[in-house]
Amino acid sequence: MPASSDSVKARDKVQTDITIIGGGIAGLWLLHRLCQRGYNAILLESKALGSEQSVASQGMIHGGIKYTLSGLLTGASEAIADMPGYWRQCLQGDGEIDLRGCKLLSDHFYLWSSAKATSRLTTFFASKATRGRVDKVTDAQLPPLFQVPEFKGSVYKLVDMVLDVPSLVRQLAAPLHSRIFQIDWQTSALKRQADGCHAIEIVSRGQRLELNTSAIVLTAGRGNGELLKQLGASSPAMQLRPLQQVLVKHRHPHQFFGHGLGGETTPRVTISSHSCDDGSQVWYLGGSLAEKGASQSSGELIDCAQREMAELLPWVDLSKAQWATLPVERAEPLQRHFARPDQAYADWAGNCQNVIAAWPTKLTLAPNLATQVVALLDNKGIKPRYSSPLILPLSSPGIAPAPWQTLFGDA
Ligand SMILES: Cc1cc2nc3c(=O)[nH]c(=O)nc-3n(C[C@H](O)[C@H](O)[C@H](O)COP(=O)(O)OP(=O)(O)OC[C@H]3O[C@@H](n4cnc5c(N)ncnc54)[C@H](O)[C@@H]3O)c2cc1C
Repeated sequence: MPASSDSVKARDKVQTDITIIGGGIAGLWLLHRLCQRGYNAILLESKALGSEQSVASQGMIHGGIKYTLSGLLTGASEAIADMPGYWRQCLQGDGEIDLRGCKLLSDHFYLWSSAKATSRLTTFFASKATRGRVDKVTDAQLPPLFQVPEFKGSVYKLVDMVLDVPSLVRQLAAPLHSRIFQIDWQTSALKRQADGCHAIEIVSRGQRLELNTSAIVLTAGRGNGELLKQLGASSPAMQLRPLQQVLVKHRHPHQFFGHGLGGETTPRVTISSHSCDDGSQVWYLGGSLAEKGASQSSGELIDCAQREMAELLPWVDLSKAQWATLPVERAEPLQRHFARPDQAYADWAGNCQNVIAAWPTKLTLAPNLATQVVALLDNKGIKPRYSSPLILPLSSPGIAPAPWQTLFGDA
């Protein structure tokens, strides 16, 4: 509820076309797309930009090959197939959004298996179905981490790439800085009005404002659940998929970006490499390890991760490494049987006149989410109406630090 204070002036009404709530990858990408289309849009963030999932992600822009490990193309693998090419254009300055300032950590991703690669997968990767998306790596082309006599398995190279997500968030936020505000929900509230539309009441710096907007778009990740509840929305419902990522800080010389395969249809472990300010690097471990590890204690998961790494990469000495874990939840629209969604989601919230709820479901699919929101606005005939920039009595949020910069302290 907004705080009431004697010093707060009477309520002023202000307008803008679209208000986005939540400044992760989804909200920031959408802000760009809406501004490009002439909407006067603003974004409200309650913590730091990129908090929660975006900076905790592995930064992989993938083309879906990791969803084909059963040996079949699937809805998930095909929905995403064009995305690496799309993002590459943005990174080169030729795409929908100029991402030339974003740091590319790797322009490829590997997939490796020990000697017992299933022959079904080998045949599938050699087939026309995956042509142009995956290549077998010869011994001479092996990444440095695998150029050891102990390695006897197979390595494939995918067109996927890996971005440094804090630099992506910074790059998206910088040009639209004046449209991004820090919201404090202790002194602000969503208010249903007589016509069924919602407005946002903001009390700050001695001012009380009622912000009216043609549409409110919720891109607050996990926060969408609470916002939808506050709005009294009857749909959509959200699901949370818990993970616990593992971080290994070490002085091993090689960076690596790849999936380690086991016998399952999801990667046994997914490794991305990130530099710390102190010059060391962190291997950030996800995949099945992080999914199964969600219910383990941090200590149990670290034991498990140490065994996995000793089995998958026995020649790598991690005896002096520091280990940490990061519990984090993936927020998505509810699926039947709690399945992993294939596509970005955006739709009008039930029982609300002017609220859209959206989840990209993958960093890679943030552009698709923006396209879907634009289509929803077009279909409802919502056009740009307000041209003056909106100045709110609110400060600007910072950028969330990556977990590898904060989880190890000074030790
Ligand atoms: C461990 C992990 C690894 C992943 N790896 C990959 C990967 O390699 N590739 C890939 O494509 N996808 C990956 N994903 C998925 C991807 O990270 C997410 O789909 C994507 O980041 C979601 O973005 P978002 O903007 O919707 O939400 P978030 O990144 O969660 O951002 C939500 C924002 O909203 C703000 N917020 C919350 N509540 C409120 C509120 N009430 N008011 C205002 N602001 C609010 C938060 O502070 C935050 O800044 C990964 C996810 C996880 C968890």
